[in-house]
Amino acid sequence: MAIGHGRAAGRGRGWYRGDCHVHSVHSHGGELTAEQLAAAARAAGLDFVATTEHNNSRGHEDWLRYAGDDLLVILGQEVTTQTGHWLALGVAPGQVVDWRYGVRDDAIGQYLDHVRQAGGVCVAAHPYAPYPGGTLMYPYRWFDTVEVWNGLWASDLPWNADNEAALAEWGRRLAFDVARGRWRPAMGNSDVHLEGQLGTPHTVVFAEELSSDAILAGIRAGRSWIAESAAVELAFVATAGERSAGVGERLESRGESVAVRVRVAGVPSGVVSLHTERGTVCREQLPVDGGFVEWRTTADEAGFVRTEVRHPDGRMAALSNPIVVN
Ligand SMILES: [Zn+2]
Ligand SMILES: [Zn+2]
Repeated sequence: MAIGHGRAAGRGRGWYRGDCHVHSVHSHGGELTAEQLAAAARAAGLDFVATTEHNNSRGHEDWLRYAGDDLLVILGQEVTTQTGHWLALGVAPGQVVDWRYGVRDDAIGQYLDHVRQAGGVCVAAHPYAPYPGGTLMYPYRWFDTVEVWNGLWASDLPWNADNEAALAEWGRRLAFDVARGRWRPAMGNSDVHLEGQLGTPHTVVFAEELSSDAILAGIRAGRSWIAESAAVELAFVATAGERSAGVGERLESRGESVAVRVRVAGVPSGVVSLHTERGTVCREQLPVDGGFVEWRTTADEAGFVRTEVRHPDGRMAALSNPIVVN
């Protein structure tokens, strides 16, 4: 569900940038109003945001006045359970999802199912947040996507050890899950509470249009990558013969050689790496003004390929969901 849902169809098929973990004054520690956040979203080059207050829906009404054809607002909540937080994206106006349980209770499943059945997406939030109750103790596989990059716990340093740990677990699980036909995409959000945080990082989603349903479908399918800022551009494609596939899609190689190409802009001297179920298979540094990396493989060698782009000091600038190869 979104504010403005049903009004004139959004912009067409394309890539949209958005931050799906946003707190206003209605969350503990949140200092910004919806008006300030909406202005910040537009200034940061975002096309959509999700309002995700802690265990309340007061942001739903607040954001009404600030959504527009240029800024979609998806209704959500951050559900802060006793043993980890999750994001419910695409809830009904005014809906509040229960948060009063932990991993020892047989409770979370019904709330996850309820959100999914209404067309929403359930996100495992900041899995390695280093404080009691913030560390996610439920398995990733219970959620639809995993927030492997959360900006808050690194607000003075937009990439840190907690994100690195979340990414490592996701990557290991991905190798297992892709082989079994159902994998959980990664996403990145700022978890903004204070000025200057919104959009660092955010998720860039391929969608049929700028609507809540279409954006959530793109997130669920993993047709997305994570950007440190709107200055970062990434194009990631695999081809075999005449066929090609982009992020979140499946490439039918039919036994032919597979060419993987990553083009990057906005990351001076960025280091591009490629990852498969065999681990890191390629690492190359780009020139200061960007460029591309090409790598060849086969379906026998790689059941999927995903990419990371880091600054020369190791901080993440962009990371993608996989292209599945068979
Ligand atoms: Zn949280
Ligand atoms: Zn949060």
